[in-house]
Amino acid sequence: MSLTSGVPVGSCDLSIVVPAFNEGRNIETLTERLEPILDGLAASWEIVFVDDGSRDDTLERIRALAAKDRRIRAVSFSRNFGKEIAIAAGLDHAGGRAVVIMDADLQHPPEIIPEFVARWRQGIAVVYGVRMDRNGDGLVRRKLTESFYRLFAAAGETPLPPGAGDFRLLDRKAVDALRAMGERARFSKGLYAWIGFPSVGVPFMVAERAEGVSKFTFRRLFTFAFDGITSFSTLPLRVWTWVGVTISFFAILAALFYLVRTAIMGIEVPGYASLIVSVMFFSGVQLISLGVIGEYVGRIFAEVKRRPLYIVGESVGFDETVQELPRPALVRRPA
Ligand code: UDP
Ligand code: MG
Repeated sequence: MSLTSGVPVGSCDLSIVVPAFNEGRNIETLTERLEPILDGLAASWEIVFVDDGSRDDTLERIRALAAKDRRIRAVSFSRNFGKEIAIAAGLDHAGGRAVVIMDADLQHPPEIIPEFVARWRQGIAVVYGVRMDRNGDGLVRRKLTESFYRLFAAAGETPLPPGAGDFRLLDRKAVDALRAMGERARFSKGLYAWIGFPSVGVPFMVAERAEGVSKFTFRRLFTFAFDGITSFSTLPLRVWTWVGVTISFFAILAALFYLVRTAIMGIEVPGYASLIVSVMFFSGVQLISLGVIGEYVGRIFAEVKRRPLYIVGESVGFDETVQELPRPALVRRPA
């Protein structure tokens, strides 16, 4: 049996993993709404909060709840590592035979979880929530999101089910598969799709955020989008070969044309405008392609440093005497 910092795997039926960054005002409401549902669903359950370096009273509130109820636990990061990493940590610390990931802000209705579990009990390893509307998101963000997913589909080798997000139930097999992927630039939506397994979507209405504000600024969303594309596609790297080939082809044609024309009509002095335009254009193309390579090299650099994904500052409700075991390796090198 493998252990994740103090929690034997299979120690309970159902784990709920909740990444939380400055969600102090939502913790209690969420727990109150979850508890009766979980009691009716599983003989044993746990809620694993991942406090992603919150600067408000998130951790204190979780501590207070954990003191009253041993089924509530938390890992708290030493700083903000981002939602994707928080999810990874939650999966590392969840012992359930099935794990549900959900947001802390009550946008993911706990009332859908019984449906997730019912599907799981029918033998489906991954049950994901499909969001029915994004109206709460604002027009600009919605349009940008749409174009990102279109781009991802066009460039990607991994098709994503439309409308699927982090709100989902994962069987232990799927959790272990995800934990075996040690990459730092974690684009969870791509990882969920990449691991495969029989999956089914359950539609749900996205609720309004209960308290607080969205933690995803446009800058964060752009980084997220870049991570997504570069983790799952090499097309942006390869496309330059074809751009280069096409441009060179036209350059040869132009050279031939000028050669023939000079031979027939003699030397012509004008041509300054076309020269400057083409110099600028091709410098631009070269800089763009260098930039794209830079994006990838930067990410390769981040990966080869092999830093831990996250640093736990404090854990609440876990048995500290049991040693943490390494993440599972699905692919082992032959000895
Ligand atoms: N979150 C996190 N770390 C971050 C940003 C967000 O753990 O750096 C959590 C946040 O507390 C929430 C979930 O991720 O539980 C979704 O975040 P949010 O509601 O801000 O995003 P949105 O719903 O606007 O996509
Ligand atoms: Mg939200």
